[in-house]
Parts: sequence; C-alpha cells; structure tokens
Amino acid sequence: MKVAERLNKIPPYISAQIDKKIAELRKKGVDVVTLGVGDPDLPTPDNIIEVMEKAIWEPAFHRYPDYEGSIEFRKAVAEYYERRFDVKLNPENEVMALIGSKEGIVNLTYAFVDHGDYALIPDPAYPVYKTATLFAGGIPYTMPLLKENNFLPDFTKIDTDIARKAKLMFLCYPNNPTSAVADKKFFEEAVEFAKTYDIVICNDSAYAEITYDGYESPSLLSVKGAEDIAIELGSLSKPYRMTGWRIGYAVGNRDIMKALGRIKTNVDSGQFTAIQKAAVEALTGPQDSLKELRSIFTARRDMMVSALKEMGFDVSAPKGTFYIWAPVPEGYSSMSFSEMLVEKAAVVVIPGNAYGEYGEGFFRISLTTPDDRIKEAIKRMKEIF
Ligand SMILES: *Cc1c(COP(=O)(O)O)cnc(C)c1O
Repeated sequence: MKVAERLNKIPPYISAQIDKKIAELRKKGVDVVTLGVGDPDLPTPDNIIEVMEKAIWEPAFHRYPDYEGSIEFRKAVAEYYERRFDVKLNPENEVMALIGSKEGIVNLTYAFVDHGDYALIPDPAYPVYKTATLFAGGIPYTMPLLKENNFLPDFTKIDTDIARKAKLMFLCYPNNPTSAVADKKFFEEAVEFAKTYDIVICNDSAYAEITYDGYESPSLLSVKGAEDIAIELGSLSKPYRMTGWRIGYAVGNRDIMKALGRIKTNVDSGQFTAIQKAAVEALTGPQDSLKELRSIFTARRDMMVSALKEMGFDVSAPKGTFYIWAPVPEGYSSMSFSEMLVEKAAVVVIPGNAYGEYGEGFFRISLTTPDDRIKEAIKRMKEIF
C-alpha cells in the first residue's frame, strides 16, 4: 500500500518521542505529571450540559443540520461580537458555524490556497496552519515570531515578491504557544499589509476570552477595512471547556465566508444542531463559569510563574492563554531540556521546536492540569533547579 505523497510532506510529530518516553515510564509505574496538551481539565459548565440534555430530544435536530449553522447559533455569535467587540455582523452571511476551529483552518486554506501559492504562517505556531497549507499543495512562508518583537510578525521583513504571490495569512492572538497578545495597532498594520498585497487574513482567536488581570483582547474585525479582507475564527473549546463538543465559528468578510462555505458543503454536513443549541447557552447565558475559569488559571499562572522565577527562568506572567512560554536554561536545546525533565522529574512539557524552528530554545507549559499536579511538578522541578 502506498499512501498519498502529501502525507510524506508533513513534518514528523516531534512530541511523539516524548509520548513514547511517557508510555515507557508509566509502564514502569512512574507517576508522570503532564503539562503538555492544552485541554481544560475542568468539566463543561452545568448550564451548557442542561441545555444539551433537553436539546437531544428534539426530533428536528436529529436530521441533517444547516450547512452554515443554525440561525439561532449564528445570531448568538453576532450578539457576542457586538457586546464584546462592538463589531456588527450579519448573522445571515457573516457568521458560519464550524465543527471546531481546527476544521475552519483547514477548509479556509483549501478555499484560498492553490498548488504553488504562498501562505504566510507564523513560527512558532499551532501546527495546523502549516500542515493545511502543505495538504493544499501550497508553500508555507515563515513569519518569525521573535521575543524582541513581542512575538508579533514584522511585516516589513516579508519579501515583497512573496507577498505578491501570497493568498492567505494566519495570525493567532492571544497566541498559542507564546502567550503573547496583540493590540489594535498591530491588527491595523496587518490589515494594511494584507490590503496592499490582496491577501486574505485570518486571526485564530481561540483564546480571545482566556485573558487575565482585566485585559481584554481586541478583535481583528474591529479594525477599519478588516471587513474587506479578514475573517476571525473562534472556538467554544477553551473558554467553555468544550474541547470534546467540537463547535466553533468563522466570522467576517462575506466573500471569504462564501468560499469557505463552498468547501464545507462538499466536505461536511454541519455540526449537530443540539450542540449548537448548547453553544448558544454558552455564549448568551450566564458567564460565571468563564469568570471561574479565569480565576483558576490566574492562580495557577501566578503559582507557576513565581516558581519558575525562583528557579532562575526568565519568564513573566502572560496576559492571555493558559500557556507559559519560557526559555530553556543555558546548555540545553528545547528537546534535550524536555527529555531531561521527563527523565529526571517525570514532568512533561512541550519542546518549543514542536511549534516550528523559531520555537527552538523555548518550552511550553500548559496550565490545564489540576492545582495539586502543578504543585507536584513545581516540587520536582525545584529538586533540579
Ligand atoms: C486549541 C486550538 C484550536 C482548536 O480549537 P478547536 O475549536 O477545538 O478546533 C485552534 N487554534 C489554536 C491556536 C488552538 O490552540
């Protein structure tokens, strides 16, 4: 059997080596603490589950859902955008439901990137932007996210010949994995650049609501002119602890939306309407669970950041996401540091280079692990540093 060539184009899954080590240690009975994957440890809030419990009995929901999402869900997303960002969206043609934002990333790429086209991809980044580009036959062009630039891409460094040939640009703020945030001025620069070169621009805003200390992250769509060229992808996964439910949305320019919709109608058949109904409750119902989530993550963040500082790591408390992006100590690479932590402390972190070559020299800690396990990880790390 010979698999398609595109499968050979995607980079090897770097965490696989670490996963193998975890499996070996667990087999030996070692208690491994994982600060790896970003998946909230808390269950989905009760108010959302209660709506789902009822919705599942609705016979109309047992049939094929609307491709673009139920109008009720799309209205709830539009309402949220107006309330939160003062951005007005037409739920009829500027909002679309997604089966998780990951799906949106891949299908958006298929909608805009042809064989040989460039896509501008941040590095380090959530790996899906690059793999989707490669699957579509496109060429990923790296926009380095450097610490000295607050992990924002520098558009003046992008080769103009490439910019002219680029079809799509991905951004992600608040950022996974660096936990950096972007202000409105940066989004203005991004829109200006994208308009100059006629590039579709997409901000993956999966962490828009995972923010701390009163910080509110802006929307790319709140920038003037963004409606001509931009979309934003959102997700219920992280703020409402619904990673297993698979519900997100795309919002923004209606022509981009139409193109994405044409791919989606040929690939999937929409998300289960009962799940969309539960998502409406998440977006428009009481927001106490979100406040609770923020306060839990704030406490974990502070605990981890102060411990890392005591151990001599050069870190500061992030304003967004539930990650801590820290430089590895002198003498280590991302990989050798992560492997050493697994071997000596049975603590798992993700090596920065798993997110791209510019992630080298860093490691990522996820705070989506119960408090006592984070304390245990700190205790074990302090025995080394
Ligand atoms: C978790 C995550 C996603 C995926 O979210 P889903 O809506 O669950 O598919 C997308 N982008 C980034 C940056 C993420 O960290």
